[in-house]
Amino acid sequence: LIKRVLLLADIEGSSHCWSRDGARFMTEEWIDACIGMSRDADAVCRALFDAGVEKILLKDFHRTGYNLLAERIDARAKLVPGFRSKPVPGIGDPEDTQVLIMIGMHAASGTPGFLAHTFTSRIRRLSVNGADLPEAAFFAGAVARYGIRPVFFSGCPVACRQAEAVIGGIRTHSIDKSVPRRRFDASAWRRRLAAAAASSLAGATALPYAPRGPFHTQVTMRGGSARTLAGRWGLGHASGRIVFEAPDLDALYMTLIRLCYLHPLAERVLPAALFGFHLKGRLGMRWLRHRMRSGRGAALP
Ligand SMILES: [Zn+2]
Repeated sequence: LIKRVLLLADIEGSSHCWSRDGARFMTEEWIDACIGMSRDADAVCRALFDAGVEKILLKDFHRTGYNLLAERIDARAKLVPGFRSKPVPGIGDPEDTQVLIMIGMHAASGTPGFLAHTFTSRIRRLSVNGADLPEAAFFAGAVARYGIRPVFFSGCPVACRQAEAVIGGIRTHSIDKSVPRRRFDASAWRRRLAAAAASSLAGATALPYAPRGPFHTQVTMRGGSARTLAGRWGLGHASGRIVFEAPDLDALYMTLIRLCYLHPLAERVLPAALFGFHLKGRLGMRWLRHRMRSGRGAALP
C-alpha cells in the first residue's frame, strides 16, 4: 500500500501559467502562475491524503524553487522549497517516499509542447541514443536507486506523451493550453487532476525508472556556445553540438546540470551559490506576497 509520496511541482504546466512571462521570475503573470501552481499542489495533496496517503514530501521545482505559497497548501504536506545539490540533484533527500508524482511539468527542448525546454531554454535539443529525453526521465531516474516508482505525471499533451513514451506504466493527466485562458475552467480541471493523481496510486504498475546505459548524447545549444561549453567541461564537440557518452543516467544528469547551471570554479563554491539562489527565491516570495496583499490574483479560480 502506498503511504508516502514525493510530489514535484513545476510551473509551466500548472493552471494559471499561460505565457512565457508566467514562468519568469517576478513578473505580474508569475504571481498568477504561483497562485495556480499552489492551488494545484494543494488539490493534489488533499486528494492524496483522502486516498489514505500519510506523508507527502512536496518539492517546488521551478527556477529558484520558491514559487509555492505554503499558506495555501494543505499543512499536512511537507513543503521543501529551494534546490538541493545532494544526495539527489535538485531534490535533496527523498526520505522514505515510495512513489513519485510530477505535476505542472513541460515537454522536452525542441518539441512542440507548451514552453518546452529541458533544464534551460539555452538547450535547443537534447538527443539521447537518438531520441528526445524529457526532464521527467531525469527526475524519475534520479530517485530510482531509492526504489521510488514514478506513477503520475501532468503537463501539456506533448509532455504527457513524452513521459508515457519513456516511463512504462506512468499515468498522465494533461492540460490543454491551446484554448484561450479565459475559456479554461481552472477549478474543474484541477479537480480532475487531483482525482487522477489519487487514482494513480491504486494498481500503479510503473517500476523504478532505471534505463541501462551507455547514453550517447548530443546537446544542441542556442546561440553557438557549444564549443566553449564542451571545452570548459572536457567534452566532445562536432558540428555545433556537444557530444559525449555517459555510462549511466546519473552521470548524464550531472553532466547536463554542469553544462546548464555551473562553471568549473562555481562548482567548488556550490554551497555559496545555492545560498545566493535561496536568498533570491525568498526575496521573490516576499515581493509576491506583497503584490498579493495589494490585490493581484485575488479573483483567480
Ligand atoms: Zn519550470
